[in-house]
Amino acid sequence: MYDVWQNVLAEIEQQISAANFSTWFQDTSLISTDNNRIIIGVKNSFYVKQLRARYLDLISTALRNNNIKVENIDFEVQSIPKLKSRSREIVKSPKQITERIKTIKTRASSTENHNNGLNNKYTLDNFVIGSNNELAVAAAKSIIASPGTRYNPFFLYGGPGLGKTHLVQAIGNELIKNNPDYKIFYTPISHFYSDFIDAIQSGKGKDFNRKFQKLDCLIIDDFQFIVNKEKSQEEFFNIFNDLYQLNKQIIVTSDRLPSQIKTVDERLASRLTWAGAFDLQLPKFEDKCAILRAKAELMGVDIEPEAIEYIAENVNTNIRDLEGEFSTILLMSEVRGLTPLELIKNGSVNVSRASKLRPVSSKQAVEKVAKYYNLATKDLQSKSRVSNIKNARQVAMYILSKELNLSTNKIASEVGVKDHTTVMHGIKKIEKDLKLNFALRDQIEEIKEKIYG
Ligand code: ADP
Ligand code: MG
Repeated sequence: MYDVWQNVLAEIEQQISAANFSTWFQDTSLISTDNNRIIIGVKNSFYVKQLRARYLDLISTALRNNNIKVENIDFEVQSIPKLKSRSREIVKSPKQITERIKTIKTRASSTENHNNGLNNKYTLDNFVIGSNNELAVAAAKSIIASPGTRYNPFFLYGGPGLGKTHLVQAIGNELIKNNPDYKIFYTPISHFYSDFIDAIQSGKGKDFNRKFQKLDCLIIDDFQFIVNKEKSQEEFFNIFNDLYQLNKQIIVTSDRLPSQIKTVDERLASRLTWAGAFDLQLPKFEDKCAILRAKAELMGVDIEPEAIEYIAENVNTNIRDLEGEFSTILLMSEVRGLTPLELIKNGSVNVSRASKLRPVSSKQAVEKVAKYYNLATKDLQSKSRVSNIKNARQVAMYILSKELNLSTNKIASEVGVKDHTTVMHGIKKIEKDLKLNFALRDQIEEIKEKIYG
């Protein structure tokens, strides 16, 4: 069994990046192939989800290529003795770390492709899938497989530093990889405007328009910066409509829904979310760990698992900050000649001071939800089953869980319900509704703004 799995792994290793291979496959094993039911051993349940989402096809193909019949694949969590990962050399010499960072940095900065705005350092391969982004990634994959169809336009929104640019650039890069003739243009909306104004002023307005009409895919980043100049907005709207009618793929990112951007024309706002709106949320603890592990692999540095967990636990703002803290610790490790964990243990790093979200109490959060729905807090916490009150109560449960990370038991007592199963049900209900109910999404975004604002 061991040998077969080694062969399967060797094949998988050929297909994906070294970073992904060691992150996701390093501690896997083949437990059973009885009755063509394959059971693969993994470290923890987080890996089950990732492997299923990203690599199921790849694994089955590799198994079949090694003459193993596959009917279905299951994963089983096996606790691997901690010693195993510890026995690796923990941290390379500080000098080696700096060298690695340097090479990665030069590689990253020299990879921008000219003309189309894409930067090939952003790939789908190095985008870690987690509960915070899995729906958006599923849509992205569908677009890569058949652009200009189901998710057109693709509207992706979420706070700063959560991966919007990375994901849409990755879509562009994959599309080009599949078809090098595919004409893509990526631009932040602010550049779109300055280019438009330049074109008009130099009498080349028509050329500007023609350039866009030839595209197969237009990616507009940071749409929230759209300006309220009638003419430029109209130009964007025209280009949008032309491309849309020709079934060309349009991709737009923004930090919020179009309906929340005051300067946007209503028709344009509604059109942008015609095919739905996908959001990127704050990563959970295990998502953050996975991202840091992937980054460490990519940079070729070994960092103690406890150090990764410490950073993941303490950076609660966004992924950009997570990466920032990570690089700071690596550099500090170089300067002081201590490993990241040693630095943490001796108190030299204090991540939590810098980057925690402004703390909000659960009481404040519940009050804001009640107020938003024009209810008294005590009504929200009552036993009433009137539908608007029940809905507000469930939104409160959702927010306490997603934003404040409270346990279901704690949430139950905050919103006045008896037991935690009611809370679980309430959160699930909102999660399900959010997939289709855009008004509800808007409401929750607005409530969050009120809570943090
Ligand atoms: P946004 O455009 O939403 O502000 P970015 O796409 O610029 O955010 O992401 C910020 C940083 O975090 C980038 O360096 C990006 O590569 C990284 N990042 C975001 N999401 C992920 C992810 N899921 N996996 C790996 N890296 C990520
Ligand atoms: Mg961005």
